[in-house]
Amino acid sequence: MIYPCLIIGSGPAGYTAAIYASRANLQPVLIEGPQLGGQLMITTEVENFPGYPDGVEPFQMMDDMRRQAERFGTQFISNLVTRVQFCHDGAQPHQVWLEDDRMLQAWTVIIATGASARFLGIPSEKEYQGRGISACATCDGFFYRKKVVAVVGGGDTACEEAQYLSGLCDKVYMIVRKPFLRASQIMQDRVMNNPKIEVLFEHNTLRLTGENKVEGADLVYRKNQTDEQIRHIDINGFFLAIGHQPNTALFADFLARNEEGYILTQGDSTECYQLDGQHIFPGVFAAGDCADPHFRQAIVAAASGCKAAMQSDRYLKSK
Ligand code: NDP
Repeated sequence: MIYPCLIIGSGPAGYTAAIYASRANLQPVLIEGPQLGGQLMITTEVENFPGYPDGVEPFQMMDDMRRQAERFGTQFISNLVTRVQFCHDGAQPHQVWLEDDRMLQAWTVIIATGASARFLGIPSEKEYQGRGISACATCDGFFYRKKVVAVVGGGDTACEEAQYLSGLCDKVYMIVRKPFLRASQIMQDRVMNNPKIEVLFEHNTLRLTGENKVEGADLVYRKNQTDEQIRHIDINGFFLAIGHQPNTALFADFLARNEEGYILTQGDSTECYQLDGQHIFPGVFAAGDCADPHFRQAIVAAASGCKAAMQSDRYLKSK
């Protein structure tokens, strides 16, 4: 059997693509990976997605989207994609292999595999997941109004997150492992001139502390990598801003990606480029964070999922 439309990924982009594709009668099949609901599931509450005036738990929101897709006939497969083979000229169907060795064929593939925030790798990060740890200030900052938080990282994202949080919180620490910031000069200036932000250069996080939720962090200060001191800070929230990793390694042999691994799409469409960066891959579309290094918001991902489904529909009709 050759499916008209296969969707890989179960975040807002994937589910929205499924809603639109199923309503367009493309009979989509959506492959739900290991983290059902995507990155959103690691946040505490969603308050900035339109349509939920009282906020919503991430599980509830993703379940709503899934049921909406199901209502219009989307089929779901719970499995991991292990390999793909895309057809360069659209003459043959694209092929997608699953962990159980099944091979699926489809005329269009919508990639909505998302990105994963990088974590430090210290054990307490897992322990406090959903209880004071976040990788998105725009999503979770509101819960820390008038509180004290720390942001880890010294790049543009960390500076932007710290600036944003300083508008809500009483104090923001920035924990920076080097003696300087990597961010652009203008972002550095903003952070350094912000009285609510204290930058802790040459500090690394050893562990988070607190009863059932983040209440503090033990840091190690290494001046010139030699003189070592342990320091404790009292905080209510710990924000990671040490980069994101798009989940696109699977497509490396077929699709053009930028240096960080984000899939390149044509203009504001969701059409993907072949490796030469010049030609479009017929019937292959990318939506959501796997192709978006800039916004990384659920609503933006959902919108691009809609675009991808509409482009799949147009492509199938044109064939
Ligand atoms: P970056 O890779 O630029 O910065 C990551 C930061 O995290 C660096 O300071 C890095 O430290 C630090 N870091 C990495 N690993 C660890 C670790 N294990 N422990 C402690 N610190 C760590 O990522 P960004 O997300 O900030 O930015 C990605 C891209 O997006 C950049 O090109 C950036 O310019 C761009 N961007 C632009 C914005 C804008 O223009 N408004 C806003 C946001 C992002 P170190 O320096 O020591 O390596």
